[in-house]
Amino acid sequence: MNHFPIFLALENRRVLVAGGGDAAVAKLRLLLKTTARITVVSEHAAPEIVAWADAGKLNLIPRAQEPGDALCCVIAYGAHENAVLDGRTLQLAAADGAIVNIVDDLARSQFITPAIVDRDPVVVAIGTEGAAPVLARKIKADLEASLPAGLGLLARVGKTFRKAADVLPMGAVRRRFWAAYYNEAGPRAADQGEAAIRDALDTLLESHLNAETRPGHVDLVGAGPGDPELLTLRARKALDAADVVIHDRLVAPEILELARREAIIIDAGKEGFGPSTSQDVINALIVEHGLRGHHVVRLKAGDPTVFGRLDEEIEALDAAGLGWAIVPGITAASAAVATIGQSLTKRGRNGSVRFLTGHDMKGFADQDWAALAKPDEVAAIYMGKRAARWMQGRLLMHGAAPATPVSVVENASRGDQAIHATTLATLPDALSDVSGPAVLLFGLAPRAAAQALTHQEIAL
Ligand code: SAH
Repeated sequence: MNHFPIFLALENRRVLVAGGGDAAVAKLRLLLKTTARITVVSEHAAPEIVAWADAGKLNLIPRAQEPGDALCCVIAYGAHENAVLDGRTLQLAAADGAIVNIVDDLARSQFITPAIVDRDPVVVAIGTEGAAPVLARKIKADLEASLPAGLGLLARVGKTFRKAADVLPMGAVRRRFWAAYYNEAGPRAADQGEAAIRDALDTLLESHLNAETRPGHVDLVGAGPGDPELLTLRARKALDAADVVIHDRLVAPEILELARREAIIIDAGKEGFGPSTSQDVINALIVEHGLRGHHVVRLKAGDPTVFGRLDEEIEALDAAGLGWAIVPGITAASAAVATIGQSLTKRGRNGSVRFLTGHDMKGFADQDWAALAKPDEVAAIYMGKRAARWMQGRLLMHGAAPATPVSVVENASRGDQAIHATTLATLPDALSDVSGPAVLLFGLAPRAAAQALTHQEIAL
């Protein structure tokens, strides 16, 4: 980029145009849109220029440029359409301290004037550094067609309303108000003129002020087991609208990618025995962002209602008076059982299924091992890797068959998914090389192996 685009403050500042022909008239048409004080020096000014001077729109000096004419000018144009005269303008005006443009002479110009789409105060400047004027014209035409004529009026009225809108808290709430104005309420009222736009702004502010007394909203969203295709539509929508996403360690990066570009993403990772963000800190984080009026998505792996410490977060939200909603997700057990081709419940085998955790806040979690040790019981064991040997001991002690199948499904639904088919007798060994998150499906073998086992039993 050899030319840096800027918008120059011209109110009450001086601009010199040297020359009085077509090129000068064309530049003046643009310059007269500004609030600059314009001087034209020309011995042969075109009738348009004379008329503008008569109307008091510019100051016409009917002679050739002299030293000092461009004093106090921010910019000067050499518009003689004559290389010698324009060269003189460049010298004189630059000596006076102005930066100079020679019309249609990129090489000698100290600045260039872009093609402009004018919806004052919204102005789009298009430049190609002289490389492709035709392209610039095409872009200009496209923008002219796509930006509604009333856009400038909307922005002008909007600008006068900024102070009034400052009663809304800074950040998401105020942003939502302005987005609602520019995207919906404003364009709807634009055709009916300025008064209608002002009315629309008043009404909109009132509704947003009322909405503001209801603070932010928190969605407690299940991110599923990892595969973005296993997200619910509602989870996607929540991510799409989020101002802040506070997520668990287990939430896959591909899913975080789906959050709104502008959303703040906060990792509130918690690991069984490892480094972690404490639950109190997480609760405080969610509440803090909610109270700022943000739309917070609390994103949890799997389903938020399964081993997600959801109730503690809900209690914190209730205590802070924040609204919340639960968006369910596919829990790891569902994804795991799908990968081994089995179902969690089966007629004639098990009419109930348990979701267990291998450890809780006190250490290894005690469960009703006697009930689980009975034949044909099925359980999905979460966070069970470290507690495996201990659970194995409990179950065997209560009479579980050592040959009871256990399928360990690691990284269910992710690219690195692995299935380790084992039995209660060999469970701890089978877990030795499992490093990712895993669900232990107690009582279930992968479907093909399950069939083999049945045949074996028949043969015996
Ligand atoms: N709310 C989550 C569970 C959180 S507890 C859910 O519904 O799935 C964390 C445990 O979930 C892990 O220790 C592991 O046992 C299990 N888990 C989560 N994602 C998993 C995945 N993709 N594959 C296997 N197990 C997973």
